[in-house]
Amino acid sequence: MKFEVITIFPDFFESFKNEALIARAQKKGLISVNTHFIRDYANDAHRSVDDRPYGGGAGMVLMVEPIYKAVQEIKKQGSTRHFFQKVPGRTLKKTRVIVFSPKGKKFDQAMARKWSKLDQLIMICGRYEGVDERVAQYIADEEISIGDYVLFGGEVPSMVVMEAVTRLIPGAVGKQSSLEDESFNDKGIMDELSKRLEYPHFTRPEVFEIKKKSFGKLRTKKLRVPKVLLSGDHKKIEEWRKKHAK
Ligand code: SAH
Repeated sequence: MKFEVITIFPDFFESFKNEALIARAQKKGLISVNTHFIRDYANDAHRSVDDRPYGGGAGMVLMVEPIYKAVQEIKKQGSTRHFFQKVPGRTLKKTRVIVFSPKGKKFDQAMARKWSKLDQLIMICGRYEGVDERVAQYIADEEISIGDYVLFGGEVPSMVVMEAVTRLIPGAVGKQSSLEDESFNDKGIMDELSKRLEYPHFTRPEVFEIKKKSFGKLRTKKLRVPKVLLSGDHKKIEEWRKKHAK
């Protein structure tokens, strides 16, 4: 899977790309995270990528042309046969272009599952007041929101999507069973069995002490791990987990 991020802040992605499971998945050749600086596709000497909105109003709007050019260039590079030489008999590429917007379709686990099977996901990160509407209308396949709140830009949403998608690529998560057990298993559609979010987890120590003020006095409170989890009784543990899964 090639993630292609179109952004005016490529530096945001430096540590994201180079840490933890995203870094590992790249080393294993499962994914690549490529950032594309919108200014590189600007048309004038000032490398402008934004302008004032037609009709007036506050703020600036990302222009359609540099984004269009970036998408064209990325698609052109990705469609070379050489990209697929590791996959015999495969020349057609499954690719999708999304633009982030708070008014877009809400991102969820089912979408992540679907996208984990793509060859390439091109993500356009908005900024300022947003992106020229023609990007959503003609260039992107879909407008995506990560939730009902407004952020400064599409960079954090693109990281959210990359993490959710990467975890579903076989081999990206250490233990496959830790994926199967998880909240929203089964293709993201919560069926009868998984009509719940995950159960609570505990790890060492068995007892953790905190100091808490109560009635003006500092008292020690012992925070204990539920006994059943220490019992070794797998049936009981399973029942407890079912009961406490949300
Ligand atoms: N003027 C817009 C907000 C623009 S926020 C409005 O009032 O709706 C700037 C950019 O941040 C957007 O273009 C989008 O790419 C990104 N963004 C902000 N909130 C987001 C969200 N909840 N989901 C996805 N992208 C978001």
